[in-house]
Amino acid sequence: MNIKIALLPGDGIGPEIMESAVGLIKSIADRYNLSISFSEQLVGGASIDEYGEPLTEQVLEECYDANAVLLGAVGGEKWENLEHQKKPEAGLLKLRKSLGLFANIRPAKIYPAFIDASSLKADVLSGTDFVVLRELTGGIYFGEPRGYDETHGWNTMSYTKDEVDRIVHMAFEMAKQRNGKLTSVDKANVLEVSQFWRSRVNEIKEKFPEITLQHMYVDNASMQIVRDPTQFDVIVTGNMFGDIVSDIAGMITGSLGMLPSASLGDQYALYEPVHGSAPDIAGKDMANPIAMLSSVAMMFNHSFQMTQAAEIIEKAIERSLEQGFRTQDIFSEGKELVSCTKMSEIILNNVEEIMNEEAIGVFTL
Ligand code: NAD
Repeated sequence: MNIKIALLPGDGIGPEIMESAVGLIKSIADRYNLSISFSEQLVGGASIDEYGEPLTEQVLEECYDANAVLLGAVGGEKWENLEHQKKPEAGLLKLRKSLGLFANIRPAKIYPAFIDASSLKADVLSGTDFVVLRELTGGIYFGEPRGYDETHGWNTMSYTKDEVDRIVHMAFEMAKQRNGKLTSVDKANVLEVSQFWRSRVNEIKEKFPEITLQHMYVDNASMQIVRDPTQFDVIVTGNMFGDIVSDIAGMITGSLGMLPSASLGDQYALYEPVHGSAPDIAGKDMANPIAMLSSVAMMFNHSFQMTQAAEIIEKAIERSLEQGFRTQDIFSEGKELVSCTKMSEIILNNVEEIMNEEAIGVFTL
């Protein structure tokens, strides 16, 4: 298989964690006999410094031409006072929009070795494994009219049939590949736009008789995720509700340095950690590479249908945590504090070890 991956390391800790990601991809590629080429490009502040804008057309072209895009993080104090459209983060929004990434996926999965570090009790969390699918390009964040004057502020929450249908289809398909349960989150007791959303979900459900569907109001869903997160498999919701629900889901299962994400469209896919550029620790070899490496696992799973490779990466992360290694953001008494480089090396060694155990790339007659 020939694969081209666009690498956008960005700013702050972005380049450090991207280096770990590239090492991991190369090691998987070797064993699975993949031919992978990388196209490394500037984005965010790094691009502003070089070209005066956070995302150039040439970089966009490279992304259109790639099978997947891997992003580090963008932003930092140096560019904070630029006007909105010229900021590093504007480059990221333009990238998502240009690639038509309408669905954002965030897994909420608990690593057993890390269970005691969560703000929830171990017995509540044990067995948690669900994904939040958030609509990313519609809803109240984009709806018109919008504005404010001295006495009044207003936004519009609207969804078209096509916008709802494509993400809901994706959610049903995802539930089919997982444990067959879908929860659609809305506010249909108050909002007409949610009543419309719900009616579309019910109609699409007819094509997926094997999936168990439930509807849940967003306030209840937020409470239920904290009360009993094991009840969920796939959650699908609109842009603003998803923004909130995916942060709750993410944080119950770990620290910011461990949360991966995927943004998918009809043609393109982008994978990135949930966290930002962490300027406070940039250049100090202190970053936690797990969110980035876990995003690579999502890339193998969603873009290349290499479920086994994705599982090996996740197992290697879990094994490294079980062995007691921790970067500073997740460090606790009795564990071994390691740098970003060291943590990446340990995870990579575990990936190699697991591939040996599973005889990946070892052909016998
Ligand atoms: P942040 O996520 O960069 O950092 C928040 C805190 O978490 C910091 O203390 C940081 O050290 C820590 N942290 C984050 N990732 C870590 C990791 N992998 N390992 C260890 N510790 C980690 O959020 P912030 O400080 O609010 O924002 C910093 C910059 O990043 C801003 O310019 C912001 O706009 C930008 N940002 C970018 C993205 C993105 O590129 N997708 C997302 C969020 C924020």
